[in-house]
Amino acid sequence: MDDENKMRNKKIKVGIIYFSIIVIVLLLVNYGMNSARNQSVAYSQFKELVRDGRVEQVQMSADGSIAFLVENDNFTTYNTVATENLTTITAYLEEYNVPVYNGYIAQTNIWLTLLLQLGVPVLLGILWHFISKSMSRGMGDAMSFGKNNAKIYAENETGIKFADVAGEDEAKESLEEIVDLLHNPQKYAAIGAKLPKGALLVGPPGTGKTMLAKAVAGEAQVPFFSMSGSEFVQMFVGMGAARVRDLFKQAQEKAPCIIFIDEIDAIGKSRENSLSTNDEREQTLNQLLTEMDGFDASKGVVILGATNRPEILDPALLRPGRFDRRVNVEIPDYLGRLAILEVHAKKVRMSSNVNLAAIAKTTPGASGADLANIINEGALLAVRKGRNAVEQWDLEEALEVVIAGKVKKDRVLSPKEKQAVSYHEVGHAFLAHVLPYANEVHKITIIPRTKGALGYTMQLPGEEKYLVTREEMEDEIAVALGGRAAEEVMLGQVSSGASNDIERATETARRMVTMYGMTDRFDMVGLESPSGTYLDGRPVRKCSEATEKAIDDEILMIIKKQHERALKILLENREKVNEVAQYLLEKETITGDEFKKILAEGV
Ligand code: ADP
Repeated sequence: MDDENKMRNKKIKVGIIYFSIIVIVLLLVNYGMNSARNQSVAYSQFKELVRDGRVEQVQMSADGSIAFLVENDNFTTYNTVATENLTTITAYLEEYNVPVYNGYIAQTNIWLTLLLQLGVPVLLGILWHFISKSMSRGMGDAMSFGKNNAKIYAENETGIKFADVAGEDEAKESLEEIVDLLHNPQKYAAIGAKLPKGALLVGPPGTGKTMLAKAVAGEAQVPFFSMSGSEFVQMFVGMGAARVRDLFKQAQEKAPCIIFIDEIDAIGKSRENSLSTNDEREQTLNQLLTEMDGFDASKGVVILGATNRPEILDPALLRPGRFDRRVNVEIPDYLGRLAILEVHAKKVRMSSNVNLAAIAKTTPGASGADLANIINEGALLAVRKGRNAVEQWDLEEALEVVIAGKVKKDRVLSPKEKQAVSYHEVGHAFLAHVLPYANEVHKITIIPRTKGALGYTMQLPGEEKYLVTREEMEDEIAVALGGRAAEEVMLGQVSSGASNDIERATETARRMVTMYGMTDRFDMVGLESPSGTYLDGRPVRKCSEATEKAIDDEILMIIKKQHERALKILLENREKVNEVAQYLLEKETITGDEFKKILAEGV
């Protein structure tokens, strides 16, 4: 509503400006016409003109006012007032053969009249044209939709091939059939197989969904129409639907081709469970459904949609005959990550000592976009350091920049704070080292980073994991609480540095209780469910308030138990922890191997 009001105000303002311009123009024209037609001159000047033979017609009134025309001046009627009596003037005029008329004389120039009579309406017409044009511009994109808009997004050749998309083999396999279909639709038609109209690419952000869609178009060598779902949803009801119509019309003209709709959830949101109605979105969705039903897939128009929120899509979109294929695009595993790093590494100059496998190992959970970013950050770092190729060191640093932020050079910690951070980090690392199910320590550092960390301990899973056991989760909590525990044991004080650890530990404990059925008290009752498959939304609670309280008690028990466990282990190993912490204080960063060596052999 607010937007509509703004728009109306804008319209009124533009209207007022143009109205004022028209009035000013009319006044000027009028003034010009009057001043061009009448001009007063001195009587002596009139006489001079008569003497020179330049006066053509004269008309005199009894009061002595004289109007006259001058030769070669088609636009002006001259006026003067006589200072002599009429007889003298008449004699003077007769002497020079100037005719005298009775009645009104005025310059009646046909061209001038025509010009004014036609010119003004034409001028008004032109002005009106500009007014309406600028008003529609003022009203934003909403009115400027049109035939050409979708064309902007059409690419004739995406230039991307499946080979450019690393990993994601299952996704590629499902999409290969679509490529084949675009190449030879008649092969499918001959056997009577119904062609799939669309496929939905589903996966977390940055996993290469857009890239895969482009690769399908690139492999099939067909045009690629691309639009984002949010672009369809316009301010005015009916605009989005018009865009959908337009897009399909153009696509059909260019068939075979691919239509790619990114963020399809923006229009395809389920209409159930929605408290507010959104007419515009519904109309757009309906139009999309109608278009999908209406076109003939044998012509070779394939629609690819992408979303990271498949659970909120309207079932109507997913039924057979629409997006009847679902292609999962997942976060890459180790081999996928390595392949993605290799693909992107090809585009930058890499030194021969670079070990991409090591980077792939240290980045579980990273998406393709993250990995591409790491390589690019590495290349930028190399340039900043004046190197002519990317070294392993640049990539390691880039990885940390992506994970933990840039080194904060101006953040100077007091020696006391630094010591606390050092104990804190060694606390994490030590527990990670001794607990049987914790991930291995890869690196410990006490260099502050921009993302708020004063230091951190990087752990790495030994192998790719898909299941997490209760023991692993308990160890994870103990390691997270180990930082604070070390401060307590070594310094006898606590600090605010553990807030992030506390958050993570509590979250893990909560999941153990509410989602994974890992407590005796609640057995296998599901008390919460995740709100989105791929995005970290708040879980949805599915229990009574009384149970919620009991959940809190259970979480407290888990946290307390692990905190005590961490304290006990660190207390028993005070000397070792101290030794490593002093070493870390001096070095600021130590690798996992160094750390293990110190624990085994001493400094
Ligand atoms: P999405 O559409 O899933 O959000 P994109 O396709 O836009 O992700 O990917 C973003 C960027 O990440 C790409 O431009 C590419 O550089 C990189 N990327 C993602 N996945 C891959 C992959 N499997 N292979 C190569 N590059 C990838």
